[in-house]
Amino acid sequence: MSEDTLFGKIIRREIPATIVYEDDEVLAFKDIAPQAPVHVLFIPKNEAIPTLDDVQPSQAHLIGKLALAAAAYARREGFAQDGYRIVMNCREHAGQTVFHIHLHLLAGAPLGHFGT
Ligand code: 5GP
Repeated sequence: MSEDTLFGKIIRREIPATIVYEDDEVLAFKDIAPQAPVHVLFIPKNEAIPTLDDVQPSQAHLIGKLALAAAAYARREGFAQDGYRIVMNCREHAGQTVFHIHLHLLAGAPLGHFGT
């Protein structure tokens, strides 16, 4: 179940968040410090997985669930055709700060290139 990270507290409704999507396995909410006009985080609700590197083969479907939930959100909100970016940070060099895996969805303006 949801472990005791910040996102575990959001899953358990112990701290507030602007939730934009939820199903049996996925929760999505607006990032508190948006890096683009649209910045939503998609997280697994029922699995305590700190990083992408900790995902087990039996949990691999969750990554697809997060990605497809983000794509569906983009279509529903009307910006899928304009395009968007999904990112998952893993550990220190990527700047991961919350150790409950999450997919960032960034959109709403040209995002420029990244990686430098
Ligand atoms: P990471 O850097 O781990 O990939 O991403 C963590 C994200 O969580 C950051 O973009 C950060 O702004 C967001 N965040 C941190 N604390 C909170 C919070 O309390 N509420 C929400 N909605 N987002 C948060």
